[in-house]
Amino acid sequence: MLIAFLKPQCDSIFLKYMNTQCPLCHSENIYQDGNLWICPECSHEWSVHAKSESAKEDIMAEASSVIKDAHGQILADGDSVTVIKDLKVKGSSAVVKVGTKVKNIRLTQTGDGHDIACKIDGFGAMNLKSEYVKKS
Ligand SMILES: [Zn+2]
Repeated sequence: MLIAFLKPQCDSIFLKYMNTQCPLCHSENIYQDGNLWICPECSHEWSVHAKSESAKEDIMAEASSVIKDAHGQILADGDSVTVIKDLKVKGSSAVVKVGTKVKNIRLTQTGDGHDIACKIDGFGAMNLKSEYVKKS
Protein backbone atom coordinates (compact mmCIF):
# COMPACT_ATOMS: atom_id res chain seq x y z
CA MET A 1 0.00 0.00 0.00
CA LEU A 2 2.71 2.45 1.01
CA ILE A 3 4.78 1.79 -2.09
CA ALA A 4 1.72 2.11 -4.31
CA PHE A 5 1.01 5.45 -2.70
CA LEU A 6 4.54 6.88 -2.95
CA LYS A 7 5.32 5.81 -6.49
CA PRO A 8 3.10 8.31 -8.35
CA GLN A 9 4.48 11.08 -6.14
CA CYS A 10 8.04 10.20 -7.19
CA ASP A 11 7.02 10.09 -10.82
CA SER A 12 5.47 13.50 -10.68
CA ILE A 13 8.55 14.97 -8.97
CA PHE A 14 10.69 13.36 -11.65
CA LEU A 15 8.62 14.76 -14.49
CA LYS A 16 8.49 18.15 -12.86
CA TYR A 17 12.26 18.44 -12.75
CA MET A 18 12.92 16.77 -16.08
CA ASN A 19 10.63 18.93 -18.14
CA THR A 20 9.65 22.20 -16.65
CA GLN A 21 11.99 23.52 -13.99
CA CYS A 22 15.32 25.24 -13.56
CA PRO A 23 17.53 22.98 -11.39
CA LEU A 24 18.88 25.98 -9.49
CA CYS A 25 15.90 28.18 -8.66
CA HIS A 26 13.09 25.81 -9.75
CA SER A 27 11.56 28.48 -11.94
CA GLU A 28 9.13 27.08 -14.46
CA ASN A 29 9.76 29.88 -16.97
CA ILE A 30 12.64 28.10 -18.69
CA TYR A 31 13.08 27.82 -22.43
CA GLN A 32 15.19 25.75 -24.75
CA ASP A 33 17.78 27.22 -27.14
CA GLY A 34 19.41 24.53 -29.26
CA ASN A 35 20.98 22.07 -26.82
CA LEU A 36 20.75 24.50 -23.94
CA TRP A 37 18.07 25.23 -21.45
CA ILE A 38 18.01 28.80 -20.22
CA CYS A 39 16.40 30.14 -17.07
CA PRO A 40 15.54 33.85 -17.44
CA GLU A 41 15.06 34.22 -13.69
CA CYS A 42 18.54 33.28 -12.44
CA SER A 43 20.41 33.30 -15.80
CA HIS A 44 21.38 29.67 -15.35
CA GLU A 45 22.15 27.79 -18.58
CA TRP A 46 22.55 24.06 -18.81
CA SER A 47 22.65 21.35 -21.42
CA VAL A 48 19.83 18.88 -21.67
CA HIS A 49 22.21 16.15 -20.48
CA ALA A 50 23.60 18.12 -17.52
CA LYS A 51 20.08 18.94 -16.51
CA SER A 52 19.05 15.34 -16.21
CA GLU A 53 22.14 14.63 -14.09
CA SER A 54 21.47 17.41 -11.63
CA ALA A 55 17.75 16.72 -11.76
CA LYS A 56 18.49 13.22 -10.57
CA GLU A 57 20.35 14.65 -7.58
CA ASP A 58 17.48 17.00 -6.90
CA ILE A 59 15.08 14.09 -6.96
CA MET A 60 17.22 12.15 -4.51
CA ALA A 61 17.43 15.18 -2.23
CA GLU A 62 13.72 15.81 -2.47
CA ALA A 63 12.80 12.18 -1.89
CA SER A 64 14.80 12.10 1.32
CA SER A 65 13.28 15.31 2.62
CA VAL A 66 9.59 15.09 1.85
CA ILE A 67 7.76 17.76 3.80
CA LYS A 68 4.53 16.73 5.50
CA ASP A 69 1.84 18.66 7.31
CA ALA A 70 0.65 18.03 10.86
CA HIS A 71 -1.41 15.08 9.69
CA GLY A 72 1.29 13.45 7.58
CA GLN A 73 -0.02 14.66 4.20
CA ILE A 74 2.78 15.41 1.77
CA LEU A 75 2.98 19.09 0.91
CA ALA A 76 4.00 20.53 -2.44
CA ASP A 77 4.76 23.95 -3.89
CA GLY A 78 1.53 25.81 -4.62
CA ASP A 79 -0.55 24.00 -1.99
CA SER A 80 -2.92 25.85 0.29
CA VAL A 81 -2.70 25.18 4.01
CA THR A 82 -4.44 26.23 7.22
CA VAL A 83 -2.56 27.23 10.37
CA ILE A 84 -3.51 24.91 13.26
CA LYS A 85 -1.86 26.80 16.11
CA ASP A 86 -1.45 30.46 17.06
CA LEU A 87 1.99 31.41 15.81
CA LYS A 88 3.98 34.36 17.10
CA VAL A 89 5.68 36.34 14.36
CA LYS A 90 9.39 36.60 15.04
CA GLY A 91 10.45 40.14 15.94
CA SER A 92 6.95 41.52 16.49
CA SER A 93 3.95 41.17 18.76
CA ALA A 94 1.76 39.99 15.90
CA VAL A 95 0.23 36.53 15.99
CA VAL A 96 -0.89 34.43 13.06
CA LYS A 97 -4.16 33.02 14.38
CA VAL A 98 -5.19 29.40 14.24
CA GLY A 99 -7.40 28.88 11.20
CA THR A 100 -5.51 31.39 9.04
CA LYS A 101 -5.53 30.19 5.45
CA VAL A 102 -2.27 30.39 3.54
CA LYS A 103 -2.31 30.08 -0.23
CA ASN A 104 0.41 29.12 -2.66
CA ILE A 105 3.08 27.91 -0.25
CA ARG A 106 6.65 27.21 -1.33
CA LEU A 107 8.66 24.45 0.25
CA THR A 108 12.05 25.54 1.47
CA GLN A 109 14.96 24.31 3.59
CA THR A 110 16.07 26.99 5.98
CA GLY A 111 17.77 24.56 8.33
CA ASP A 112 15.98 25.92 11.39
CA GLY A 113 12.80 23.90 11.09
CA HIS A 114 10.88 26.43 9.02
CA ASP A 115 10.20 24.53 5.83
CA ILE A 116 7.39 26.54 4.25
CA ALA A 117 7.85 29.97 2.69
CA CYS A 118 4.65 31.90 2.09
CA LYS A 119 2.89 35.22 2.12
CA ILE A 120 0.10 35.85 4.59
CA ASP A 121 -2.36 38.72 4.17
CA GLY A 122 -1.59 41.41 6.71
CA PHE A 123 1.80 39.91 7.59
CA GLY A 124 3.73 39.69 4.34
CA ALA A 125 6.37 37.14 3.48
CA MET A 126 7.26 34.70 6.23
CA ASN A 127 8.34 31.16 6.96
CA LEU A 128 6.24 28.55 8.73
CA LYS A 129 6.87 25.12 10.17
CA SER A 130 5.04 22.35 8.37
CA GLU A 131 4.13 20.73 11.71
CA TYR A 132 1.86 23.71 12.47
CA VAL A 133 -0.21 23.60 9.30
CA LYS A 134 -2.60 21.23 7.62
CA LYS A 135 -3.24 20.90 3.93
CA SER A 136 -6.57 22.45 2.90
ZN1 LIG B 1 16.77 29.44 -12.52
